[in-house]
Amino acid sequence: MSAQQTRTEILKNLLEQEPAYRQKQVLLGLFQEHARAWDDIKTIPHALREQIKEQTPWLTVQEVKTFASHDGRTVKAILELHDTLRIETVLMKNSRQPVRYTICVSSQVGCAMRCSFCATGKMGLKRNLTADEIIDQYRYWCAYLETQGVLRADITNIVFMGMGEPMQNYEAVRETCNTILDYTKIGPTRVVVSTVGVKHALEKLLKDPAWPPVRIALSLHNAIETTRKSIVPSHAHGFLEFFVDWSKQYHTKFPQRRRHHLSLEYVLLSGVNDGVKDTQALALYAAKVSDARVNLIYWNPVQQIAFHRSLKDAALAIQKKVKEKGVICTIRDTQGQDIDAACGQLIVQNSVKV
Ligand code: SAH
Repeated sequence: MSAQQTRTEILKNLLEQEPAYRQKQVLLGLFQEHARAWDDIKTIPHALREQIKEQTPWLTVQEVKTFASHDGRTVKAILELHDTLRIETVLMKNSRQPVRYTICVSSQVGCAMRCSFCATGKMGLKRNLTADEIIDQYRYWCAYLETQGVLRADITNIVFMGMGEPMQNYEAVRETCNTILDYTKIGPTRVVVSTVGVKHALEKLLKDPAWPPVRIALSLHNAIETTRKSIVPSHAHGFLEFFVDWSKQYHTKFPQRRRHHLSLEYVLLSGVNDGVKDTQALALYAAKVSDARVNLIYWNPVQQIAFHRSLKDAALAIQKKVKEKGVICTIRDTQGQDIDAACGQLIVQNSVKV
């Protein structure tokens, strides 16, 4: 595959002369259960299949290595792209019955946001992923589970909480979401796009008829401007106020408010954002944002980053204060810490061979 042309573009060119239904057939093929190669898509005529095979691989990501956590509930995969850059993606088994899976996908190689507590920020941004490369993280996990006798339909949730800032790769993220919604049984409110809050992209999606009805999570981490700016350097002046207003417009666009509640992610950093003032600001702010829920996340240790996670008592105290304002507040259970697969631990040193 050439560096410039994506699978979508290659297929579009190849299928130009074909009857209209052919494109749908090929796309359906990409999501066909148990299919492992273009040859498995028997609905595509042989000659066309040969042409497709020559020009574009079945998967745009290749497994380099997988790591399973001790409890077996989390698997992290390192995947290589056509230009040898590498990304990480994570599969998480939910603890409830029946067993279901959530996958965490990357939207960029690296990240330009440089949040001070996050591993991915340390590598800087290498490039955006194409929609194919994001979609193929899902297709990779489908194949992985199928080899273990698990149905792909058991992947019920997708979160954009891997490497990268999805709102800095707007078009590809939008295309990925729309394709997933069109070609899988995953419902729109089971797809969560997590963002540090890129103003122009958030504004754009409100006016964008093609933006899918997926859920949005804001990585807030502090509701006091100066403190937020100190840990989230991409924070734009006035963002907190902007987001309150934005949340109202978002719920005008997606009026099923409960299903489209906004998550406010809050990584707990001891002595940095878990004090009385921070808690008060968070509780007041969360009550101002339209249909918000707060999700407290224990900080996962990252090498060479000198933060400490808050103690359980601090987390419980924050949760109590937020709840007192009538806002739902959960404390996220961390998964996959022993394999560096938890939030913010995803980093790939391209030079390091694993
Ligand atoms: N760039 C996007 C998505 C990637 S990170 C965003 O900022 O939302 C997904 C979530 O993990 C974010 O809320 C992020 O702030 C959080 N996170 C980053 N590093 C972390 C760490 N070391 N421990 C716990 N959560 C972390």
